[in-house]
Amino acid sequence: MELKICHLYPDILNLYGDRGNVTCLKKRLEWRGIDCTVEGISIGQKLDASQYDLFFIGGGQDFEQEVLLEDLRGDKSLQIKSAIEDEKPFLAICGGYQILGSYYKTWDGQQCDFIGALDLYTIGHKDRMIGNYMYTCDDLEGQTVVGFENHSGKTYLGSGVRPIGRVLSGFGNNGEDGFEGARYKNVYATYSHGCLLPKNPAIADMLLRWALERKYPNVSLAALDDTLEHGAHSYMEARLRAAQNH
Ligand code: GLN
Repeated sequence: MELKICHLYPDILNLYGDRGNVTCLKKRLEWRGIDCTVEGISIGQKLDASQYDLFFIGGGQDFEQEVLLEDLRGDKSLQIKSAIEDEKPFLAICGGYQILGSYYKTWDGQQCDFIGALDLYTIGHKDRMIGNYMYTCDDLEGQTVVGFENHSGKTYLGSGVRPIGRVLSGFGNNGEDGFEGARYKNVYATYSHGCLLPKNPAIADMLLRWALERKYPNVSLAALDDTLEHGAHSYMEARLRAAQNH
């Protein structure tokens, strides 16, 4: 068995070590004896989405998002949209999450028309939403997810997508409606930067299961010893809950 991961814009969209999530996916496959290759596709490189089983797109500042606008037009956005419609799993983080939506209006009035693969849009505000935060995941029976967010964009979901879950602490999509992230087909789009998957291994395995089941029906994922990962998760969950009680 083998999964091929496509890392979109690895040299441009990589805040807070977002790329560590790709390492985590690869390791969790290899620990189970499943092969994994990772290929980066960046500006000026042709994307043939049919070659890949799983996609990752990290976060970036407004500047980097504007730099990508030209490259995203045309065939690349068609390839991304068709892979999403084809139920290929995507993990998209912050700036990468916003790019999958229809547009982003920066806080200083710059209009970025994005690819419109997901029914959502983002409006920038002067005040940033920054910090460790926590939310529930509907796909994992309300299990908590801990993450780190830093964005000025407030994202609003249309009826074509659903949120990942509810914010328990922090801001999430917009700090207003209590929701975090967007789910559509096999897309998991979130504001959680950095080591999302290492400290939330259930999300990593959910993405791997989606990818493997598309390719190899009836596959099952062997359990791993996640003692360290669960320790990191519960440490942050306890810290956030303690802060709320002050
Ligand atoms: N530029 C976007 C914002 O500030 C995304 C930032 C990010 O990926 N951290 O909302």
